[in-house]
Amino acid sequence: MRTKVVCFNCGYRSLFNENKCPSCGNVLDKISILDAIKLDKLSGEQSILKWIENKSGHPISEDGLLLHKKYIEKRKQERVKKEEAYQAKLKAEQEAKLKAMTQKALDKVNNIPKCPICGSTNINKITLTTRAVKTATFGVVGAIDDADKTYKCGNCGSRF
Ligand SMILES: [Zn+2]
Ligand SMILES: [Zn+2]
Repeated sequence: MRTKVVCFNCGYRSLFNENKCPSCGNVLDKISILDAIKLDKLSGEQSILKWIENKSGHPISEDGLLLHKKYIEKRKQERVKKEEAYQAKLKAEQEAKLKAMTQKALDKVNNIPKCPICGSTNINKITLTTRAVKTATFGVVGAIDDADKTYKCGNCGSRF
């Protein structure tokens, strides 16, 4: 990546082939690869601005400098906001995960079957053996009666 365009009005530069300066609205100037190599070697805002001024042959305007400064500040704030939003999302995801795990553990504890009629926990699972016995005793009709029912209440006798 190298600098592709510079703004001779405010000192903005970009690694992308943009046309219009996002900080001052000026038309951006494309720079040659040779110039980009020279420019990208420079460090420090002052020496970069000096290079741009030498290249354009005129000083960067005070208004332009101010706009560029504001633009950089805006971008910085946007980055901070983005990071904050990302952290908030991460936190929410972790909380949701924890909540789901807690709920799962609670469900396991609370998942003791109860009779829906009388609320008694004195219930018996209808096993295949009891169904088989019922089939032998009452025939197919009795077995079908219990076919989709899993429990029998030991208190009130209802099946569910
Ligand atoms: Zn500009
Ligand atoms: Zn019951």
